[in-house]
Amino acid sequence: MKVARVLLPLPLPEPFDYAAPEGMAVAPGAHVVAPLGPRRLRGVVVEVEDRPGENRPLKALESVVDEPPLPPNTLAFVRWTARWTCSPPGEVAAVALRGLRAPPPRPERKLALTGAKPARPTPARDRVLEAAAAGPLSAADLARAAAVSGGVVKGLCEEGVLNVVEIVEPAAFPEPDPGHAPAALNPSQAAAAGVLETLLDQGGFQAALVDGVTGSGKTEVYLEAAAHALAADPQAQVLVLLPEIALTQAVLARFERRFGVAPAEWHSGVSPPKRRKVWEAVANGRCRIVVGARSALFLPFRNLRLLVVDEEHDGSYKQEDGLIYQARDLAVARAKIEGATVVLASATPSLESLWNAEQGRYRWLKLSARHGAARLPDIDLIDLRQAPPERGRWLSTSLVSAMAETFARGEQSLLFLNRRGYAPLVLCRACGERMTAPDTDSWLVEHRYTGRLVCHLTGFSMPKPKKCPHCGAEDSLVSVGPGVERVEEEVRALFPEARTAVFSSDTVPDGASARALVERMAAGEIDMLVATQAAAKGHNFPRLTLVGVVDADLGLKGGDLRASERTFQLLAQATGRAGRADRPGRALIQTYAPEHAVLQALAAQDRDAFVAAETAEREAAGLPPFGRLAALILSSADPVALDATAKALAAAVPNAAYLEVYGPADAPLALVRGRRRKRLLVRADRHVDLQSFVTTWMSRVKVPGSVRVTVDIDPYSFL
Ligand SMILES: [Zn+2]
Repeated sequence: MKVARVLLPLPLPEPFDYAAPEGMAVAPGAHVVAPLGPRRLRGVVVEVEDRPGENRPLKALESVVDEPPLPPNTLAFVRWTARWTCSPPGEVAAVALRGLRAPPPRPERKLALTGAKPARPTPARDRVLEAAAAGPLSAADLARAAAVSGGVVKGLCEEGVLNVVEIVEPAAFPEPDPGHAPAALNPSQAAAAGVLETLLDQGGFQAALVDGVTGSGKTEVYLEAAAHALAADPQAQVLVLLPEIALTQAVLARFERRFGVAPAEWHSGVSPPKRRKVWEAVANGRCRIVVGARSALFLPFRNLRLLVVDEEHDGSYKQEDGLIYQARDLAVARAKIEGATVVLASATPSLESLWNAEQGRYRWLKLSARHGAARLPDIDLIDLRQAPPERGRWLSTSLVSAMAETFARGEQSLLFLNRRGYAPLVLCRACGERMTAPDTDSWLVEHRYTGRLVCHLTGFSMPKPKKCPHCGAEDSLVSVGPGVERVEEEVRALFPEARTAVFSSDTVPDGASARALVERMAAGEIDMLVATQAAAKGHNFPRLTLVGVVDADLGLKGGDLRASERTFQLLAQATGRAGRADRPGRALIQTYAPEHAVLQALAAQDRDAFVAAETAEREAAGLPPFGRLAALILSSADPVALDATAKALAAAVPNAAYLEVYGPADAPLALVRGRRRKRLLVRADRHVDLQSFVTTWMSRVKVPGSVRVTVDIDPYSFL
């Protein structure tokens, strides 16, 4: 009996076995329709085995779907990811198949020559035959090409000289030309590109960290490496990952200038029919260069030779919903499976990547010199204890006068505050009540553009009430603290003639509007931009010369493992935005704690000092990259079932050395949307197989249907 093992998009730990009917062309990677109970599901075959002794009454597969199969390495990557993230393999496969959501394109009806000769040749008919000889055309195109009336074409169809054929035109993905426009590299860039080319030539798995200050020209370096990979092998494919927000027309245009054709795009702004075209073209090798957001990692590459993760430190590579994964780590794994070269690039690499480079696991390529005439900005700390802003204001006089000078020169300022909305907290002056979302512990954030109070965690929102819902006092609700909207209000009051804008996930809710705002800023249509961390990414704003950090202490307060690191990266990226072209830049950082190590390192522009201090702390605590973490997050609307499950898990911890389990503890926001949440945290030494431990552990406890358990390997945020 031939047995096909099929991954179905369901939370099952293993592939499901089906009988493969005689004569059905079932091979690994094939898409199939399989019965499951009363349902019919689409799945993908992972293995086909001959099992002569099989005596279970297996259900038979219904049919094979005509789609490009998943290549073996993509299947291997899906299975590896499932194991690494402790996720059901069928659900990971479903992520890899998302490109096929749109239906296949409908075939076009065209006319082709049958070989029959016309009974009565005429000059008009001869012209039609000549035009049709070049390949099938629609009736209208054929008539136009032959300069005849529709009647002539119709007559030839009726005679059987032409007949209708249904054709699906493959999407056009023109070949990139590696020799189109090579960049003129400076010596530091040329050295780095040379090493990457050597790694590509050596073949097999190779990893490199391209580490260069903002504006040092990392993009040119990896574009040359991509050109080398494409030139060396006419079938080679290249994937460049970028944070979603960085996928602007300006960035895509750089690829087009380099290779003469636009790359294929893969991100949330790409329509489902276009995604299908990219997916198919990647699967059959016609598409050779993809620039995309993190989920592009799951595309079915046939011959992936080079993966680039640009802005590798960026927090948005960590996917927090659905399948929880860190795209940078998965990119390294995919490169291993493909035997390809992976390049991580950043101006502020993650501690993990720096450590890997230090240990010699990654080739460490440092770009020091700034490309062109640009210089790093001068960075000054403003001690708010000595020069506080006026009451009800958030910008100190030194920052305001720097903004005025910048505006007078016709240059741009960027104010950076990592807080959405108008005010992070609304409280009642009369009774002290803090407004929270129903059944949730997080504060409601005031949004003045919409006049609503919004929970950023659950999305709950309500109009701002006139009376305190708790004590009933009238007009007693006050807004506490600043968000980006409130800072923009202050900027508009101070500079009524300046063009201002807010950049946050509220004003630019999707990738397309974010890209549009970035392009307006780059074109100089905005004088003063107030932004959350979304704008701190690798954009090039040539007229931006002043960056003001409104509250540098904000990031340092959140008690999680990467708080300092993230603050340093964010501030370094934000201040690095200033003065990229030939104008000198300046960065001013407002803080109540100028003595903090992060801020001192930043002001001194001494990344090495910061990294050394932070690394020593992590090593002492056995935290990543010196140890490994995993979180089990339990949530339920039923507090009794939640408690019982948490206790059962705590009691069922397998015996293991070099590993500790903490908790169960209430998550920092214990209550979200009426569901209570608890967390168990595992810390292990580096060599421990954390995934096996977690899988064994979870298999020991029967989790009731009312409780959901999610595994987060290498957790970032503990909300
Ligand atoms: Zn009240």
